[in-house]
Amino acid sequence: MSDTPAENQPFDVVVIGAGPGGYVAAIRAAQLGFRTACIEKEPRLGGTCLRVGCIPSKALLESSERYVEAQHHLADHGVNVSGVGLDLAKMMQRKEGIVTSLTDGIAFLLKKNKITRLTGHGRLAGTGADGLTQVAVDGDTPATLSARHVVLATGSQVAVLPGIDMDWDRIGGSTEALSWPEVPEHLVVIGAGVIGLELGSVWQRLGAKVTVLEYADGPLPGMDGEVRKRAKRIFKKQGLDMHFGVRVTGARVEGDGCVVEADGREPITCDRVLLAVGRKPNTEGLGLDTLGIQTDKRGRIEVGAHFATSAAGVYAIGDVIQGPMLAHKAEEEGVAVAEYLATGYGHVDYDAIPGVVYTEPEIASVGKTEEELKAADIPYRKGSFPFSPNGRAKALGATDGFVKILAHAETDRVLGVHMIGPRVGELIVEAAMAMSFSASSEDIARVCHAHPTLHEVTKEAALAVDGRALHN
Ligand code: FAD
Ligand code: NAD
Repeated sequence: MSDTPAENQPFDVVVIGAGPGGYVAAIRAAQLGFRTACIEKEPRLGGTCLRVGCIPSKALLESSERYVEAQHHLADHGVNVSGVGLDLAKMMQRKEGIVTSLTDGIAFLLKKNKITRLTGHGRLAGTGADGLTQVAVDGDTPATLSARHVVLATGSQVAVLPGIDMDWDRIGGSTEALSWPEVPEHLVVIGAGVIGLELGSVWQRLGAKVTVLEYADGPLPGMDGEVRKRAKRIFKKQGLDMHFGVRVTGARVEGDGCVVEADGREPITCDRVLLAVGRKPNTEGLGLDTLGIQTDKRGRIEVGAHFATSAAGVYAIGDVIQGPMLAHKAEEEGVAVAEYLATGYGHVDYDAIPGVVYTEPEIASVGKTEEELKAADIPYRKGSFPFSPNGRAKALGATDGFVKILAHAETDRVLGVHMIGPRVGELIVEAAMAMSFSASSEDIARVCHAHPTLHEVTKEAALAVDGRALHN
């Protein structure tokens, strides 16, 4: 579905890509009074995140966790259920329903904000006679738009390893693993990063034997060391068969199954493979060369201050530029670039972008890790507090994990907060907010936290920075 652009009328802002970066940039630009168009090649809006990322994965994580709970944990509450069964088709249908309602919601928002929507492949096509950037739309209704400003928000796709013969079915990436029609008997996951752990957990909960092969010395490289150590222990206990220090060199389909090869190991046979070793930016066919726009050695569009590329009037945001590949980071940049275009000022606080892994328990962090502080020679004090004595955690029956706060040794300013435990994906927002306001650990400790809540663990960790936790 496309709106027809009015002939020869230049747009103030043309956004290519309607993921969390692009559609948010378009909405904010329209709110600020710009005549705005948004080009998306997929029929459904919302990008990777809504169609094949954040949303469908969280729907399946939630459903699969309910399945485990009904089988193994409800009895602890004195709730006896029998005949618990899996209807995978229904689970997938529910997931699709959630995706559809949200992607339809974005279409509604574009309409409401009077944004011209074009369906097709967008690409830069040089500079027009009017001196404005030309953007071509290749699709059922080809068009060429003139734009005062262009925002590239084309996102990312699965990165493929050499030696892995992807057939995008038995050997696939996250998109395929979100829609398998049956529970694999044996799934091999390559990579114990965020996707490997989230989707590995889904299929393990639904009954698959899951083997995870990871190159690094533990799961989630780059996250806080103590959190990674605890995560490793918990996921092993849950039944994920994890192997570290393993470099996968090949995978191929053989008959009805697959064979995975790794350095110094016997080949592993399995019935499905999920490749989850990172994502690469989408810049192919984007016409970057028509305006001399450079990419870095990882293929990301190079931007300077205010997301500006080397071509005048062309900006880039989200997964296609540097920084964490996260939906909320892309959204922040979408708002910031639109505000910059309108006011000359747009800001993202990169020191306070939270990251959440939606496993059970959840893992969340914001700011610097202990390892990063040590490497940068920044003096810090640390306060940690476990969930085990917390009343709400006991009521939930989820007491494994802790909150750790790192504060500057002299100023007490919070530099990093790292959590593993129940619902920490929600708890981390308090820490991100505190850091955005340049709070000290004492500031957090002095806030009255409701009782009984999981948030009390954050307060206790803040007290622990000063050696005065109350409940352990
Ligand atoms: P995208 O969402 O990738 O959107 C880019 C859009 O541009 C796409 O719709 C694409 O079709 C379109 N496009 C590309 N090229 C063109 C072109 N030339 N013309 C027209 N259209 C084009 N992040 C989180 O923060 N939380 C999560 O829980 C989370 N879970 C995830 C789970 C999975 C399985 C995956 C794969 C990712 C997950 N992410 C999560 C990451 C998140 O999806 C991305 O960081 C986010 O979508 C990036 O937004 P974006 O707008 O930059 O790009
Ligand atoms: P990732 O970077 O999180 O993890 C990739 C893992 O693969 C790393 O641990 C790496 O050491 C390992 N690896 C690389 N080469 C290997 C090899 N040859 N053999 C074995 N292991 C190897 O990437 P991902 O899990 O694919 O996720 C991609 C992006 O999507 C991430 O940047 C993430 O931010 C985003 N994402 C976010 C969420 C969330 O916020 N909850 C969820 C899913 C995805």
